[in-house]
Amino acid sequence: MKIALYAGSFDPLHNGHKDVIERGLRVFDKVLVTAARNIGKSPMFTIEERLDLIRRTFPGSDRVEVDTFDGLLADYAKARGVTVLLRGLRNTTDFEYELQLGRMNAHLAPSVETLFLSADPTHVHLSSKLIKEVASLGGAVDTLVPAPVAEALRAKLA
Ligand code: ADP
Repeated sequence: MKIALYAGSFDPLHNGHKDVIERGLRVFDKVLVTAARNIGKSPMFTIEERLDLIRRTFPGSDRVEVDTFDGLLADYAKARGVTVLLRGLRNTTDFEYELQLGRMNAHLAPSVETLFLSADPTHVHLSSKLIKEVASLGGAVDTLVPAPVAEALRAKLA
C-alpha cells in the first residue's frame, strides 16, 4: 500500500490543507495526516480538538488516518515505515522554507522523499494564522474552512 504522510500544525485545518489531502488521495492509497503536538505557546485548539476536526472533515474514510507526533518528523516517518512526505506550496516564501526543510529531512532520513503539491489558486491566501485572525475580528470564514472547523471557530470565539 502506498502511504503519504502529511504533517502540520492544523490549528485549525483549512480548505488548503483539505485540498492537499484530497489530491494526495488521488496518488496514494492512504494519507496519514499527523498534527504536531507542540506548536508553540498558544494554539487556539488543543491537540485533541485539532485531530477531531480533521477526522470530522473526512468522516468514515479509511484512506485518511489521523495521528499526532512529537519530536522529529523524520523519526516519526521512519517509525511508521512511511517513505513519502506530502507538502503544500503556496508561494515563494513557502518554497524557500519547504526546500530547506525537505533537504534537512532528506539528510535525517535518506529513505524518505518529499513530494510538493502546488496550492490550488483558490487557496493560496489561506493560512491557519490568518483565518484565526479574520475569524476573531468577526470576518466570515465559512468558505475557507470545512464546516466542522467553521462551527468550532464560532464556538471558540463566542
Ligand atoms: P499553516 O499553519 O500555515 O496553515 P501548516 O504548518 O499547518 O500551515 O502547514 C502544513 C503544510 O500545509 C505545509 O506544507 C504548508 O505549506 C501546507 N499548506 C498550508 N496552507 C496551505 C494552502 N493554503 N494550500 C496548500 N498547502 C498549504
